Amino acid sequence: MNKKKLVIIGSGPAAYTAAIYAARANLSPIIFEGFFSGPSGGQLMTTTEVENYPGFPEGIQGPELMMNFRMQAQRFGTVCLGEDVTSVDFSKRPFLIKGSKTSMEADAVIIATGATAKRLDISGTRDGEFWQKGVTACAVCDGAAPIFRDKDLYVIGGGDSAIEEAIFLTKFGKKVFLVHRRDSLRASKIMCERVLKHPKIEVIWNHVLVNVQGDQLVRSVTLEHVETKVQKSFPAAGVFFAIGHQPNTGFLAGQVALASNGYIEVKPGSTYTSVPGVFAAGDVQDHIYRQAITAAGSGCMAALDAERFLSEQELHT
Ligand code: NAP
Repeated sequence: MNKKKLVIIGSGPAAYTAAIYAARANLSPIIFEGFFSGPSGGQLMTTTEVENYPGFPEGIQGPELMMNFRMQAQRFGTVCLGEDVTSVDFSKRPFLIKGSKTSMEADAVIIATGATAKRLDISGTRDGEFWQKGVTACAVCDGAAPIFRDKDLYVIGGGDSAIEEAIFLTKFGKKVFLVHRRDSLRASKIMCERVLKHPKIEVIWNHVLVNVQGDQLVRSVTLEHVETKVQKSFPAAGVFFAIGHQPNTGFLAGQVALASNGYIEVKPGSTYTSVPGVFAAGDVQDHIYRQAITAAGSGCMAALDAERFLSEQELHT
């Protein structure tokens, strides 16, 4: 069977940065970029302008940034496979990685499969309805779009992300409504204080979103009281889900230890997982920072950790 020193699984900033470093260290990495699991390039492929990635004073489009990452990885010899990994076997060495078409063995593996923002499966929010036509799961990515300017915007959720997104959206919207299914917020105290005293934000307690309506774009939302079940519709131009993220770990089938929140557990300050020789980088192991730049930084760490591991095992010659 085809055996490699290093296989990288994923295709966002963490995966490509790991590949750039690993390729320059002569590890000849192979990346399984995914196919059905989402666009190669990860979450930035569904964003527009990225204004906070250092080095681009005028900003850069998310997909262009990711294509640059990819080309830089390829420039040093990284081989990219447009395949999903369907299963792995980390119980024996070399490790076995099974893709949808290609299987291969590897001495070291970097997992950088990211996380997916959770969405509610509600009428009007699905693909082909108003998803990405006013319904999104990332205010920071999409909030500046002209369709949201001076309009009523609805954020769904009651955690720190929901509050952060609601406050962010006040820069663009006329008013921001935070719809929460309970009568108290999950978010940290300081964030709660900020949102409750913000003049442009109103919290709608004990309500859930049940429907999104519109024509070409979102025009209104219907909310339902969780106890009385009374429904009311309101004008709206945007719906922003902020109900948490799901790390993309399904293919691992329990072979690497996960934290209680489902993210891959890494040794603090490193990318070492519970399996020596398997490393994790980016959002699949980070539920706190979740930025392209932090993902890229941990991708670099994973490549350096993998290189050190292979040298120690005398597998990097
Ligand atoms: P989270 O803390 O898990 O909060 C998710 C929110 O969505 C909760 O309020 C939850 O309601 C609600 N929710 C979940 N499923 C729902 C459903 N089906 N329908 C309606 N509402 C639903 O997620 P997060 O806000 O993304 O935060 C994740 C982690 O990152 C947290 O540890 C957070 O502290 C951290 N974070 C920190 C900052 C910061 O410090 N600046 C910013 C962002 C995130 P319930 O409350 O009823 O469960």
